[in-house]
Amino acid sequence: MKKLKLFAFSLIAAGLLASCGGGSQKSSESEETKEAPATEAATEEASAEEAVPETVSLTIEGDDMMKFNLKELKVKAGQKVSLTLKHVGKMPKAAMGHNWVLLKPGTDIQAFGMASMNAKDNDYIPQDKADQIIAYTKTLGGGEETTITFDAPAAGYYKFMCSFPGHYATMQGDFIVEP
Ligand code: ZN
Repeated sequence: MKKLKLFAFSLIAAGLLASCGGGSQKSSESEETKEAPATEAATEEASAEEAVPETVSLTIEGDDMMKFNLKELKVKAGQKVSLTLKHVGKMPKAAMGHNWVLLKPGTDIQAFGMASMNAKDNDYIPQDKADQIIAYTKTLGGGEETTITFDAPAAGYYKFMCSFPGHYATMQGDFIVEP
C-alpha cells in the first residue's frame, strides 16, 4: 500500500513538474488525480452486478446425420450446468443412438470410442474407463431428450463426444470452462 501511495505521489509530482511551464494547467490536472479513486469504485460496483449465474442451461442436439449442432459449449467455473441433449432425428436408438459424454483432460477420445463399442450393455459407457468421465447422459433414440446437471469442472478445455459406436469421429466438440 505504501508503495502504491508513493507511486501515485510521484505521478502527481511528475504531473506538476510537467505543467510547470503553463501555470494555468496546474489546478485542472490535480483535480483529475483526485477523481481517479471514485472511478475505480464505480467499476467495482458494476462488476459485482454482473455476478456469474449459479446455474447455466445448455442444449445440444444430435441428428440422424451423426452430427451435434454445436462444436463448442462454454460455461464458467463454479457454475452448476444443466445440460439437455435432444435427439432431433427419427432413427431408433439401436441404429443412431446419441449420448453426450464429457471427458477429463488428457483422455484419448479414440481409445474411449473403441472401448465404448464393447459397452452396449452399459448404454455405451465403458466401465473400465469410468474414471475418465466427468458427466454423461443416457443414450437416446430419435425424438427423445434428456437433461443432466453437474458441477462445472475447474477452468480449462475439455472434450465432449457421443460414445455410440463409430460416432466419436464426427460427434465431438470442445467444452470450455472459463475462469
Ligand atoms: Zn451419436
